[in-house]
Amino acid sequence: MALDELYREVILDHYRNPRRKGSLDGDHIHAEGQNPSCGDEFSLDLRIDDDTVSDVAIQGIGCSISQASGSMMAEALMGKTLNEVVEMTHNFKRMMGIVEGDNPVDADRPGSVLGDLEALQGVRKFPVRVKCADLPWTTLESAIKNAEGAA
Ligand code: ZN
Repeated sequence: MALDELYREVILDHYRNPRRKGSLDGDHIHAEGQNPSCGDEFSLDLRIDDDTVSDVAIQGIGCSISQASGSMMAEALMGKTLNEVVEMTHNFKRMMGIVEGDNPVDADRPGSVLGDLEALQGVRKFPVRVKCADLPWTTLESAIKNAEGAA
């Protein structure tokens, strides 16, 4: 199977079977985001205990790129420390060409490993779709900002 094809399969699988879909009860932080240029919407619930993501739930509607990115992100967030979350966000944005720089993947640093998310790197060639892929991550950034504001 060609790499492109494999990546397409990974994206479609997350789109059709989004991981961690739903919402959280009890104490959690919440954020929502929209990408008007495509009509994508995304909402994120995060529970953080001792600076570590202990639960994640997502909901959204929109194109396969935005929703697959959200599903992969939700999966990748589980068990990460807040520092690792920030590192992962930067690495994702570097991979997509949203921020400059290389993507220093280091297996000893969980925050640097993107896993399934690498399936989205082909989207980088389509600037309009980069916004779709980035929507869950901008939502994540505002969730963390909300959390810091509340602390
Ligand atoms: Zn979209």
